[in-house]
Amino acid sequence: MLAVFDIDGVVADVRHRLHHLERRRSWHSFFDAAGEDTLLDEGARLVADLGREHDIIWLTGRPEWLRHTTADWLTGHRLPGDELYLRPPGDYRPAPQYKVDVLRSLAPRGIAAFIDDDDEVVRAALAAGFPAVLADWVPRSQALREAQDRNGRT
Ligand SMILES: [Mg+2]
Repeated sequence: MLAVFDIDGVVADVRHRLHHLERRRSWHSFFDAAGEDTLLDEGARLVADLGREHDIIWLTGRPEWLRHTTADWLTGHRLPGDELYLRPPGDYRPAPQYKVDVLRSLAPRGIAAFIDDDDEVVRAALAAGFPAVLADWVPRSQALREAQDRNGRT
């Protein structure tokens, strides 16, 4: 069975780069600073717990061009799992739709848990029948929420 984890707001603390969305609304700058994220201990503990019985899969709204940065960051923080789903170029589906579509493609392998910090994503995953859990250890910023609602970018 699989345990599927979002990254931003679950294991990666994005708060140091939110200013890129608050002022200039630069998604490129926001994502480009992802390598500097610090580890969220609550998320790391949950990954370790679920990783004892399940394969860890990463499912993020980060764009595909961040694959190496993201993979290096996960390895650098000793997080398990080498299967990483990022948003393909030119894919602007709303996050709930994008993530539920990936979950459906993974479903034949069995999904034991899916953890995300976006309540709309969690609601959509639950409605689609997946055991989704809201990561609530970091408050979601208004800037990120508004930017996502408008642009559907992460
Ligand atoms: Mg997130």
